[in-house]
Amino acid sequence: MALNLNALNEPIGPIIRDYSWKDAVLYALGIGSGMDELDYVYEKNLKVIPSFSIAAIFDFLSHIGTKSNVNLSGILHGEQDLIFHQPIPTDGKFVTEGKITHFYDLGQPKGATIVGEGITCDAKGKKLFTNMITLFGKLDGGFGGEAPPKVKIDFPERAPDIIVSERPSPNQPLVYRLSGDLFVLHVDPEFAKMVGFEKPIMHGLCTHGFACRALMKSLVPGQPEKVRRMACRFSKTLYPGIPIDVHIWKIQEGKALWRVINTENQEIVIDNGIFEYGDIPKDEIRFDGKVAVITGAGAGLGRTYALELAKRGAKLVINDFGGSRDGLSSGQASPADKVVQEIKDLGAEAVANYDNVATVQGGESIIQTAIKAFGTVDILINNAGILRDKSFMKMEKDIWQSVEDVHLNGAYHVTRHAFQVMKDKGYGRIIMTTSAAGLYGNFGQTNYSSAKMGIVGLMNTLKLEGEKYNIKINTIAPIAASRLTEDFLPPDLFQKAKPDYVAPLVLFLCADRCPVSGNIYNVGMGFINRAAVYTGKGTVISKGIPRPEDVQNQMSKISDMTNAKIYTHLNEQVGDLFNAFKAPEVKSETPKTGDTKNVADIFKLMPSRFIPEAAQGIDVIFQYTITGNDAGNWSVSIQQNTCTVTQGIHEKPNCTLSMSDIDFMDITQGKLSAMKAYTSGKLKISGDIMKSQLIEKLFKK
Ligand code: NAD
Repeated sequence: MALNLNALNEPIGPIIRDYSWKDAVLYALGIGSGMDELDYVYEKNLKVIPSFSIAAIFDFLSHIGTKSNVNLSGILHGEQDLIFHQPIPTDGKFVTEGKITHFYDLGQPKGATIVGEGITCDAKGKKLFTNMITLFGKLDGGFGGEAPPKVKIDFPERAPDIIVSERPSPNQPLVYRLSGDLFVLHVDPEFAKMVGFEKPIMHGLCTHGFACRALMKSLVPGQPEKVRRMACRFSKTLYPGIPIDVHIWKIQEGKALWRVINTENQEIVIDNGIFEYGDIPKDEIRFDGKVAVITGAGAGLGRTYALELAKRGAKLVINDFGGSRDGLSSGQASPADKVVQEIKDLGAEAVANYDNVATVQGGESIIQTAIKAFGTVDILINNAGILRDKSFMKMEKDIWQSVEDVHLNGAYHVTRHAFQVMKDKGYGRIIMTTSAAGLYGNFGQTNYSSAKMGIVGLMNTLKLEGEKYNIKINTIAPIAASRLTEDFLPPDLFQKAKPDYVAPLVLFLCADRCPVSGNIYNVGMGFINRAAVYTGKGTVISKGIPRPEDVQNQMSKISDMTNAKIYTHLNEQVGDLFNAFKAPEVKSETPKTGDTKNVADIFKLMPSRFIPEAAQGIDVIFQYTITGNDAGNWSVSIQQNTCTVTQGIHEKPNCTLSMSDIDFMDITQGKLSAMKAYTSGKLKISGDIMKSQLIEKLFKK
């Protein structure tokens, strides 16, 4: 029997489990709660212990086992990571969907690990918790796969800040198993002996439950709703009745590391424990399970992005060549190493990479570091940078070339390899770093300005190539205090321009919920604005080949930027060019609506008219096909309470609405009811017609 590697990324679920308050109480009793913890065992004012979640969806773990075809005689629960998005209700429904995300090979005779990830929602689709589970298949090694990433959590040298002693009863598994894990190893003495144990052993998840109670008691007493994450590795078995100590180190506000110790033989029964707690902000952006690669992250802006992403759950590859500001010195490992250590001190995961982005091999090796350490890349921030300023006549070829190589070619080298991974997995977020010097010009920086504007061109096309793979690419033009700006920003501004002011935008653009792609933002000191290439309406200056004098005569019309447009694709601009010839005499005051807005403006406004609260649990893509003078296609995607509008045709819309530009304007401005337009044939709807009825409640009038 071999592992079924084809099960990778195959959907598992929905697995549905109904539960009542009695299930939550039974679980609490199974993990040692009693009269002194009535909150968890008495239906009056009952609260649910968060670790109940994983016990209650034990079936999901079984599905990973069956789907992966792991040899059941060698199966162990290796690691568990739970992230809580909402408090667990006292009764209701758990709806779990997930997949196997990795098969790792430790070789023979060590075994294999199978990683699964599931998201559990309530009956209304509200996300309750995410779980990442690692099964260990002792008998499945040697299939030729990659080794798992080495994860080491650095525990503080000092004694634990808190020790909580617990004594599971000798009968503990008999109660615990009623919560779902009926495996006979925990109850049948003969079976236990047959597989090499003295007697039945504790369920790992039962000991995990004891640890959860101890952590809550110490860090969020009486407030299970404040538990945000609980992760660990099961390292040794434990017999029922043996006393345990839960060792807890507080490492920062809202985060602790923990272990469970068998007090009889001092073995670590559960290791690598992470516990995060505090209020669960409703709209918090998290990166749990996401892998981010940041170039030039050994200092300045890159370092700040790395620390902020790590605080929100991401795993990091810290690339930094460690050279001088002008890139002329040889590299050093210390900047990247220092940041990796800072991230580990936060209790998060990071690995260093010292490659030079300016080389083809460097780009490949940076992405390979991510694959080897963490198995994938979800986020890439192209940030590495140097400066070699000279006025143009002193701009020798090597000065020009070295700056192009780091900024523009560097972005190409790294992105190419990351893009392949992202394309294969159907997900990616990429940040490019430009500069105001490129967007607007700056004396003495022709090399830097061209490279930085080249990066914008790279993004413009890559956003189109990435669109159908859910890869979103945006560009920032930061202003921040760093070694690149120390001799150019005035001292008072240097103090105020901490990189911390830039990081929030970068994190938002890296998030799942990022609604935009292909945009440029200036950002710094708490100020953000969008920069874009606007194109004026223009004019046809002659029916034949014009004379230079014709250009001169029409210069005011040519230069007029009234009602200028932002194009998102070359075709839009070429389309307008042809349209201008089709109807050169027709003025734009088409007798439409009496309103100056056009169809494109309405779509641009849509995200700001969107009502997120009305979109709870709604996941739908509308395709609009508009005909007439203002013709075009737009898709409106409503997912995870956000609204994204994209010009063009979506591959898989749920519902397509076709109408003329005039009718569209009339409907959106309340002059024509959608129902009337539909019944009179002005509005045609195909696909899931029922979904079109959502539009009215999703947008403000
Ligand atoms: P910084 O010098 O503090 O950081 C840049 C990092 O990139 C350094 O740690 C450096 O060692 C690393 N690096 C340089 N060349 C590399 C290479 N070839 N391979 C790998 N790593 C390399 O500067 P910063 O201000 O944090 O700049 C970050 C980015 O932001 C740069 O792209 C820069 O051009 C851009 N930017 C910064 C500002 C600003 O105000 N700080 C303004 C506009 C643009």
